[in-house]
Amino acid sequence: MRENMTFFNPNPHIPPRVLATDLDGTFIPLPDRPDNVSALDTFRQARAEHRLGLVYATGRHLASVLDVVARYALPLPDWIVCDVGTSIHRRQDNRYAPYTPFETHLSEQTRGIGRDAVESLLVGMDGLTLQPPERQQRFKISCFSAAADTEILAARINQRLREAGLPYACLASLNPFRDEGLLDILPAGASKAAALLWLATHADFSPDEVVFSGDSGNDLAALTCGFRAIVVANASDTLAGRAAQTLAERGLADRLYRATLPATSGVLQGARHFHLLPPP
Ligand SMILES: [Mg+2]
Repeated sequence: MRENMTFFNPNPHIPPRVLATDLDGTFIPLPDRPDNVSALDTFRQARAEHRLGLVYATGRHLASVLDVVARYALPLPDWIVCDVGTSIHRRQDNRYAPYTPFETHLSEQTRGIGRDAVESLLVGMDGLTLQPPERQQRFKISCFSAAADTEILAARINQRLREAGLPYACLASLNPFRDEGLLDILPAGASKAAALLWLATHADFSPDEVVFSGDSGNDLAALTCGFRAIVVANASDTLAGRAAQTLAERGLADRLYRATLPATSGVLQGARHFHLLPPP
């Protein structure tokens, strides 16, 4: 797992007004959880009354986000951080357009070195398959592997990137639904947390105004960077423990809320805990 290098120093006196949330396992209702669906109604109502800023931050690509927004009738967010923090889309009326200042930012971070240079490093590596085109992005090169090989392949790719001096890093995760490893090669330092922090310092809200919610390993950096943070109850104890420990070490234990309910219901608990939404 990538080390968390993305921090800010919170000001506890600034009240929150924006929910930034992971989707799968977090904001999207779980099957057979009617309480998740009614929690979602509460968020939809708050959006309709313009009482809540909303950002989705996900590994999904934009079309896939819009699919689940339609399927679960999720409220339309103001911003969508997609592709594990390598693209940001802004709402304009009911459409989403790439936020070009962020593309410029990533292009500067990678010194103009594009995905072609990364792809040519991967040629001849056994056990890697490039993911389909819709999961590739200008700043995200994604491969499949067998689940058992994921960590060793990630280490090998990172070694090649270092040796070639490319400003990219490989992040490994497992598909929870099948025996499949997911390898994302991103600009070094890119993550949901880094993209959210960049957005919060370049858009119309500040990091102190963000409450972030998540459920899995790729949420850890955003859970611990200094945002007010919600770990939903379906997250692993390991993740919740690591988030709690990291924040406690920074004297920010009160920035973390461990929900007792799963997914959307847990996000709602946390939103109320941090006074982002009023009590029921
Ligand atoms: Mg998730």
